[in-house]
Amino acid sequence: MSNTDFTLAVEDLTVSFDGFKAIDQLTLYVDKNELRVIIGPNGAGKTTLLDLICGKTKASGGSIKFKNEELTQLDEHIRVRRGIGRKFQTPSIYENLSVFKNLEVSYPAGRSVFGALAFKCSDEVKARVQVVAEEIGLADALDMEAGLLSHGQKQWLEIGMLLMQEPELLMLDEPIAGMSARERELTADLLKRICKNRSVIVIEHDMEFVKQIAHKVTVMHQGKILAEGSMETVQADPRVIDVYLGH
Ligand code: ADP
Ligand code: MG
Repeated sequence: MSNTDFTLAVEDLTVSFDGFKAIDQLTLYVDKNELRVIIGPNGAGKTTLLDLICGKTKASGGSIKFKNEELTQLDEHIRVRRGIGRKFQTPSIYENLSVFKNLEVSYPAGRSVFGALAFKCSDEVKARVQVVAEEIGLADALDMEAGLLSHGQKQWLEIGMLLMQEPELLMLDEPIAGMSARERELTADLLKRICKNRSVIVIEHDMEFVKQIAHKVTVMHQGKILAEGSMETVQADPRVIDVYLGH
C-alpha cells in the first residue's frame, strides 16, 4: 500500500507550546473505513493531535494529508468542508431546539438548494435527518427538545449532527465519558456501524470499550507514538504496561 491510499497520513507532525513539544515528530496512518483508537496517559497529546488534524491548532512542523491533500495550511472550516468531523468532549447541541431541528441545522448549507439563510426543510434534508436519526437511535425522539435527552442521547445527537455532513473522517474525544453501561454498549454498536462508511478516530480510556471497537490501537506518550497494533499486541507490550496500563 502506498501512502496515497490512506484516508489520513500524518507525518513528522510537531507542535510546540512555548518550547514544549506537545506533539513530537509523530507519524500516523489511518486507512479507509478503519476505526482507530488512541490511548495513553493524561497529557500524552491525544487531544492536541485531534486539534491539529481538525485545524483548531496549527502545526509547527510536519504534514497532515487527508485523501492525499495537504491540510496544514487550511482553515478549520475548510477542513470541515473537505470531510473532517470532530466531536469535542462536551456536546454542543442546541438544548432548546428539537432533535429534528438540531439535525436539520447541521445539514451542510452549501449543499441545500435553498442556501444557508433562506433555510427550508426540503425533502432531501428531511430524508437525511431520518436516516441519521435511525443511525443514532433517536428516530422516535425527533420531536423531543434536545435538552430533555439523557446524557448518552445528547452525545449521540452530536454524533448525528456531524453525520449530517457525511464526513469521511470522524474524530471523537472520549465519547463514552459519563455514560451508563447500556449507553456504552449502544455507542460501541453505533461506532462499529458508522465506520463502515468512513474512517473513525476515537480517543478512549475504557479498555473494555476499546477492545470492543478498535481495529487497531495507537498508544501515545509524551507527544510520540509508544506502540501501535492490535489490542492484544499493545496490551502485552511491556512499555505500554509501564506507562499506561499498569496504573
Ligand atoms: P491528552 O489529551 O493526551 O490528555 P493534551 O493533548 O490535552 O493531552 O495535552 C498534551 C500536553 O500539551 C499537556 O501537557 C498540555 O498541558 C499541553 N497543551 C495542550 N494544549 C496546550 C495549549 N494550547 N497551550 C499550552 N499547552 C498545551
Ligand atoms: Mg485529552
